[in-house]
Amino acid sequence: MEVAFEKLVRSIVRLGIGGLLLVGASGELFPRICKEWYGLKDENGVFVEVPDRCHKQFDEVAKKYFGLKNADEVTLFVNRDFYALSAGSTLLPGGAVLGVPRWYLYQTKEDVENSGIQLGKYINRDSEVGVAVTKSFLPTDDMIAFTIGHELAHIEHHLDFKTFFTFSPPLWLYLTYRVASSTRKCFRLPVVLDALVKLCIYGFNYQAYRLAGQKVRHLAEFSADEISAKCDPRMAQGGVDHFATTLKRNAIQRVVLGEKGLECYTEEGDDIRSTSISTHPPLTERLLRVTAICDAPQD
Ligand SMILES: [Zn+2]
Repeated sequence: MEVAFEKLVRSIVRLGIGGLLLVGASGELFPRICKEWYGLKDENGVFVEVPDRCHKQFDEVAKKYFGLKNADEVTLFVNRDFYALSAGSTLLPGGAVLGVPRWYLYQTKEDVENSGIQLGKYINRDSEVGVAVTKSFLPTDDMIAFTIGHELAHIEHHLDFKTFFTFSPPLWLYLTYRVASSTRKCFRLPVVLDALVKLCIYGFNYQAYRLAGQKVRHLAEFSADEISAKCDPRMAQGGVDHFATTLKRNAIQRVVLGEKGLECYTEEGDDIRSTSISTHPPLTERLLRVTAICDAPQD
């Protein structure tokens, strides 16, 4: 019975290690999956065109600051969500993809009004609050350049972070399994007590791994912000504007969306929802760091 149970656990762990490796590596090795998955499509299922101004900013930032000779190595697309993302690397055979946030499609007040974005039930678009929210969805060229620089930093300079995020989950699972499976031999505990110790080891290790993973994720994001902001003073200003605008919009939405707003944002405008970007550092902290770069005397 005990041997059969151990065999079952071993099979589950093997499956888990394989699954974690597959999930971690597939996005980086086959980044087009990421575009397929997150890309914004129109009602005919065709990818929405990336605005010319985003292409223009990409060409400038990629060539001037990242030395990318062939812009085709990175495929741009519009993310169906409101944040930017990227996957892959120009050093890998699959190349890379870079998704600009959905709101980078908007260039005029009318674009925002026609987008179907809800401002909250009782908000008139022409009121002071309505105008402020609408304005917060209109990116400047410098904001676009900063965002592209941030994602290119992940693509071009973060092979070390990518390696960590790909291999640490399966390695964590393997090591935890090895430690947990050695308790019986080490302590000779009764079966029930041994099972409890194993559970504690899995739980404790998971928490430790989660905290360490989040710390490294924050380091990667701060590093990408820094690389982008240091490319050019106008990109540093774009970063400040991007974070300040997003925080302001979130803070307004916290008030106008009632109960839902309180669940989604802090008073300062930091996002508190559990989403795909909740592993990122708070916007207030990112704003502070990019502002320091922006205000630092230039050489
Ligand atoms: Zn990032």
